[in-house]
Amino acid sequence: MTTRAVVIGAGVMGAATAHRLAEAGVSVTVLDAGGRTPGTSSATFSIDVTHLKTPHSYFLLNRRSAALHRELEAQLGVGRDAPGWRHPVPLVQWGHSEEEQRTLRARAERLAAWGHPCRSADPGELSTLAPGVDPASCRASELVVHDDAAWYDAPLLARVLLDRAAALGADIRHDSPVTALLRDGERVRGAEARGRRFEADHVVNCAGPDAGRIAGLAGVRLPLRQIPGLVGESTPLPDPLRAIVATPGVDLRPAPGNRACAISWPVDALLDPDAATPVPPEADLLTRCSAILPAFRAMSGTRIGVRPVPEDGLPLAGPHPQAPGLYTLVSHSGVTLAPLLGALAARELTTSDPVPDLAPYRPDRDTSHPVRDESLATMSGHRADAAPAAPGLG
Ligand SMILES: Cc1cc2nc3c(=O)[nH]c(=O)nc-3n(C[C@H](O)[C@H](O)[C@H](O)COP(=O)(O)OP(=O)(O)OC[C@H]3O[C@@H](n4cnc5c(N)ncnc54)[C@H](O)[C@@H]3O)c2cc1C
Repeated sequence: MTTRAVVIGAGVMGAATAHRLAEAGVSVTVLDAGGRTPGTSSATFSIDVTHLKTPHSYFLLNRRSAALHRELEAQLGVGRDAPGWRHPVPLVQWGHSEEEQRTLRARAERLAAWGHPCRSADPGELSTLAPGVDPASCRASELVVHDDAAWYDAPLLARVLLDRAAALGADIRHDSPVTALLRDGERVRGAEARGRRFEADHVVNCAGPDAGRIAGLAGVRLPLRQIPGLVGESTPLPDPLRAIVATPGVDLRPAPGNRACAISWPVDALLDPDAATPVPPEADLLTRCSAILPAFRAMSGTRIGVRPVPEDGLPLAGPHPQAPGLYTLVSHSGVTLAPLLGALAARELTTSDPVPDLAPYRPDRDTSHPVRDESLATMSGHRADAAPAAPGLG
C-alpha cells in the first residue's frame, strides 16, 4: 500500500500516473530532469495507434486507453472552453507497391474481425478527406480509411494532468535530475535529486527512454531500446490539413497553429549512426512532405525524439522482484497508452493487488522471443536490426 510516491519523469506517462495517484490520496512528488515536458512527449508524432497493435490482447489495451482519452477530457472538463489534447480526424493510408497494399488489406481484415472501424475507399475520396494532398501522389487503386482516428497534443496532455495532480496536492519539481535511489538493503525507499532526499513507499520509474538508467541505479536491467525519430513541423499552412495521412515515405498529421507535423521511417533509418546519408535527414523529410502536401514548403522546426522501445515491443509495467519499492512504467506508443497504464499502475500501487490486465507486461518477463507487435515490426523493417517491413506509423 502506497501513501507516499516519487514519480520520476513528467512526460505523459509520469503525468498520467501522478494524476491517478494524487486522485487516490497518495502524497506524490514528481521529479523531472528538465523543464516542462522536455522528453519524448514533446517530440513525438502522437497519433492513436490502436489499429497497428497486435496481439489481440494488446490491441484491446490500446483501444481501452484511446477511449479513456475521451473520458478523461470529459471528466476534467477539457475541450469545451479550452482546446483539448485529443483531435479526432480520419486517418487515410495507402501503399505504393502491390505488397504494401496487400499488407494494408490484411490489416483491415484483421481490424474488421476485431470490430475496429476501418474501410477501403476510392482514391477519388482523397480530395474530400484530405484537401491539399496532391492526388497524383497516390498511385494506389484503393485507400484504407479509419474514420475514428485521432491525434494527441502530447505536451498539452502532460501539462493538463500535471496541473490536475498539483491541484490535488502533488509536488511537481522540474530541473530535478534523479542521481541516486535511496536504498534500505534491496528495497528502494526514495530518490535523490539536487542533493535532496525524497523518501517514499514506492518510486515509479517513468523516465521514458532513460528508464534503463534509472533502473540501473537499483542494479536492475531493463530490456529497453532507444530508437530516434525525426519530427518536423511545417510553417502555417494556407488551409488546414484535415486528416492523418500515412504513406510509405512519410506520415503527416495536423498540428497546432494550422501546421502539419511529419515523420518518416525511411528518414529515421538515416539517423542510425552507421547509415550513409547522401542528403541531410531534415532536407529529405521536407522533400517527402512537399511531394504529398505541396503547401508544406518549409519547416518551422525539427526535433529528434527518442522512442523508448521495450525489446518485444510491449510495455514494461510493474514492480521488480530484485528491487522492491521500484515500479517501472515505460512503453512505446506511450501517448496512446498513458491514460490507461497510469490508471492501472496507480490502482496496483494503492491497493497492493496485482492488476490482471498488466500481467503480460511485467518488466522481468522474457523479452527475447521474436517480434509480436506489428508496429515494432514496421519500425525494425526500416532499420539495420531488422524484421520484415510493413507500411505503418510511428
Ligand atoms: C518520432 C516518434 C513518433 C512517435 N509516434 C507515436 C504515436 O504516433 N503514438 C504514440 O502513442 N506514441 C508515439 N511515440 C512514442 C511516445 O511519444 C512515447 O512513448 C511517449 O512520449 C513516452 O512518454 P514518457 O512519459 O514515457 O517519456 P518522456 O516523455 O521521455 O518523459 C520522461 C521524462 O523523464 C525525465 N527524466 C529522464 N531521466 C531523468 C532523471 N534521471 N531524473 C528525472 N527525470 C528524468 C525526462 O526529462 C522526461 O521528461 C512516438 C515517439 C517518437 C520519438
